[in-house]
Amino acid sequence: MSARDWSDLDFDKPGRQLSWIRIGHSITRSGYGVIPIPVAVFKNGEGPTVLVQAGCHGDEYEGQIAVSRLINQLDVSKVSGRIIAVSAANPPAVVAGARVSPIDEGNLNRLFPGDEFGTPTQRIAHFIHDAVLPMCDAVVDMHAGGTSMELMIYCAGGTSGDAALDRRMQGMLDAFNAPVSLTFKGMSGGGNLSQVAREMGIPSIAAELGGGGGVNVEATRVGEGGIYRVLDHLGVLPLDEKWRRPDATQPIRIAGNRAYTYVYDAGVFEHLHPLGAIVAAGEVAGYLHHPENPQRAPEPIRFEETGLLYCRRAIGRVQPGDCVAHLAVAA
Ligand SMILES: [Zn+2]
Repeated sequence: MSARDWSDLDFDKPGRQLSWIRIGHSITRSGYGVIPIPVAVFKNGEGPTVLVQAGCHGDEYEGQIAVSRLINQLDVSKVSGRIIAVSAANPPAVVAGARVSPIDEGNLNRLFPGDEFGTPTQRIAHFIHDAVLPMCDAVVDMHAGGTSMELMIYCAGGTSGDAALDRRMQGMLDAFNAPVSLTFKGMSGGGNLSQVAREMGIPSIAAELGGGGGVNVEATRVGEGGIYRVLDHLGVLPLDEKWRRPDATQPIRIAGNRAYTYVYDAGVFEHLHPLGAIVAAGEVAGYLHHPENPQRAPEPIRFEETGLLYCRRAIGRVQPGDCVAHLAVAA
C-alpha cells in the first residue's frame, strides 16, 4: 500500500500464516514504530475468500474471543478457499478496551473507506478497504454493544437493491442462525465495513453479541458457532457437528434506522422494559432521576415509535444527548 503502511503476508500462499498489517506510527516514544494489526490467513485448495473480523470496536469482546479461538483452532487442511481472520482490527482501541482509538478518537466502523493520508484509524480503514476487501467474496464482522449499550444477541444485514447480492447476504444471515436476524432496508450511510463491502458487491453481515462492557458467554458461543456455520454455508469449511444449532432465528425486516430514544438532560436513567420487549410509541421507556437534586420529580422518557426493544443503554448515569434505547421497527 503506502510507504508507511504495509504487510509481509502473502495472501496467495497456501497454508497457515500469522503476521501483521503494519500501520506506520512515528511518535516520540517510538520513532520508527508501527501499529501492528494481527492477521491470520488460512489458504488451501479452491474456494471463496471470507474475511472474518473482530475488534473494530475495542470494548466489544465477544467477537474478539470468537475470532481469536478460530485462529488458534482452525485446521487449514480442512479449508477450501481462504479465510482471512482479524481478531483486533483497531489494536489501540482493543488494548484500551475502548470503542474508539485513544490515539485519534477514531471510530473504525465510521471511517470506511478510509484515507491513505489520514489519521491512524483512517489509514487502517483504508488498508482494509483497498488491500483486503478486493480479495473477499464474503465478510463477517463481529460486534457487540460495547461499554455503553446492551443488545439482544443478533446478526444484521442490509439490503443493497441488488437482488442477487441480497439473496447471498440473506443466506449468510440464515446460516449464522443468531436468535434474531435483523435486515436493515437500504444503506445505513455510516461508513461501516458492511456497507462498503456491499457497495463493492460483497455480501456482508455483522454479528451483534451482547455488550455492556463484559463478556456475554452465551453470545460468545453464538458468535463462534455462527462463524463456523457461515463458513460451512459458503463451502469454505465443513461444519463440526458441535456447532450445529436448530434453526431458531427470528427474522425481522427493519424499516428504518431512526427509532432512537434520547435524553436531553443529565441524570440517572431507569429502564422500565427488558430487552426483547415489544413497546409502543408514546409508552414510557423509563424515568430520568435527579439524585443530586431530589426536588426535581423523575421525568418520564417516552418511545417515539413502536417496535422491538433490541438495544438499550447499559450505563445508569446519562448526559444530554445520550441514547437510552433503540428499537427495531418492522418493515
Ligand atoms: Zn461495534
